[in-house]
Amino acid sequence: MDYDAIIIGAGISGLYQLYRLRQLGIRARVFEAGTGVGGTWYWNRYPGARFDSESYSYGYSFSQELLAEWDWAEHFAPQPETLRYLNYVADKFDLRRDIQFRSRVTTAHYREETRRWDLTLEDGSRHSTGFLITAIGLLSAPTMPRIEGVETFQGQSCHTARWPHEPVTFEGKRVAVIGTGATGVQTIQEVAKTAAQLTIFQRTPNWCAPLHNGKIDAAEQRQIKANYPEMFARCQETFACFLHTPDPRATFEVTPEEREAFFEKLYAEKGFGIWQGNFRDILVDRQANAAISDFVARKIRQRVKDQAMAEKLIPKNHGFGTRRVPLETKYYEVYNQANVKLVDINETPIERITAAGIKTSDAEHAFDFIIYATGFDAITGSFDRIDIRGADGLKLKDKWLGGPQTYLGVLVEGFPNMAMLMGPHTALGNIPRSVEYSVDWVTDLICHVRDHKLTRVEATQAGVASWTDHVKALGESLLSFEVNSWMTGINTNVEGKQTRIVARYSGSAPAYRERCDAVASNGYAELALA
Ligand code: NAP
Repeated sequence: MDYDAIIIGAGISGLYQLYRLRQLGIRARVFEAGTGVGGTWYWNRYPGARFDSESYSYGYSFSQELLAEWDWAEHFAPQPETLRYLNYVADKFDLRRDIQFRSRVTTAHYREETRRWDLTLEDGSRHSTGFLITAIGLLSAPTMPRIEGVETFQGQSCHTARWPHEPVTFEGKRVAVIGTGATGVQTIQEVAKTAAQLTIFQRTPNWCAPLHNGKIDAAEQRQIKANYPEMFARCQETFACFLHTPDPRATFEVTPEEREAFFEKLYAEKGFGIWQGNFRDILVDRQANAAISDFVARKIRQRVKDQAMAEKLIPKNHGFGTRRVPLETKYYEVYNQANVKLVDINETPIERITAAGIKTSDAEHAFDFIIYATGFDAITGSFDRIDIRGADGLKLKDKWLGGPQTYLGVLVEGFPNMAMLMGPHTALGNIPRSVEYSVDWVTDLICHVRDHKLTRVEATQAGVASWTDHVKALGESLLSFEVNSWMTGINTNVEGKQTRIVARYSGSAPAYRERCDAVASNGYAELALA
């Protein structure tokens, strides 16, 4: 079939992009691999999954009607609530009729002769489009650990991002969790409630901080709704579109007592304040970072009874906030439970998965269920999994071998008429806020192309070089660039992803928008248009 625009993915960005293109009367089609809408929230159904941004700051802001109709039940909504919300959005705006489910895109090749993209789906069907929009997510290519014997295990096992749709119970079961990132932490604190035995296999502990979730009562609900305009305006002003933004003070500008009191206040507050709303220098100044790391380490020692265990849970190879901070609810207290065991796999490495469980260098652990919370081939991984080829036949995967090169995180030189939503080098932060901006920017670009009867839009080499250099300079100045994580492009389970790269834009969201707005208001003169 032929379309004006094809969007890959029916998650938060794909849904909004479809809504916007439809308003313009553009014939758009969404291809979605899953059987329903929701993207991240469709796939990640693991126990305890929820987001760490305040629910009301996470919803779409484009429709006053939607804002008025939807009541968030919790300050930090669990996955089922968010999935219900996204289904509600799809129904309300009648989006499903242009979404084709069970449709994984396997190839997307640009044809210079037609100035169009030809796509193939997994079922072999072919489609063509004038404009290709990737809405494939930055954490959507799950990775299993490269451990011998994974396929030999005879019990149940599952990656958290491929969780079954049917209910799973853990009563009476011996459960293993491999991985202690944001996903592992949420899974562990939930599974520990019911499993007969829970064994956590930890390679690197993360700095976690309390989420302080709670139900939203009727009075809060009224206040939230009345306050939406101010709240969304604030999200536009903050560094990463969260409700929290760095404190203008530096860590050592205040007295030790004031510093401690400020850290205490942040630790007692809801959400990302301790990470995103801390002193302005904690992520760039080594001593400042040591101060907050020391504070959180003390909290861990207070919360975990066994001090040898507490030491294992305190990160020693990176400072607070230099990796994504998992927010938790009684995570550290889990380690005080009699049914919970921690295996530090640096001390006793996993040798193999067996039919009965997991064999480490010193023991054989028998399990009924192994949960792989082992993360994703992040940011570029979802692009690598599609055979995307540009004007000269070059594969995007090959073009990005040494790290992504983009223009504003949206366009790629050599890949005309393709726009990326939440691709590498774009401002991420509070994702729906960033999504709305990016979708609006791409929609305006498509309008411009249509109104000027253009058929080809491409980033220039100079534009890409300048943006990529800018993003690299920003990223390399952060302490987080000294640390291995998905944020620096590291995944030990993927060939070729062992070198740190700057894959994320780490400047402020307002600065990002200012740059993108300037490009648009200048008539896209920085692009190659034909
Ligand atoms: P992750 O942060 O990459 O964590 C993966 C975990 O698996 C790490 O602990 C890693 O250890 C471990 N691991 C990987 N391969 C292993 C192996 N071969 N052997 C042993 N351990 C292994 O992935 P994630 O937890 O899924 O989170 C990814 C991102 O998704 C988060 O940072 C966040 O941005 C997002 N997320 C958000 C929420 C939320 O909003 N609340 C919830 C979940 C996820 P190493 O650290 O040693 O590599």
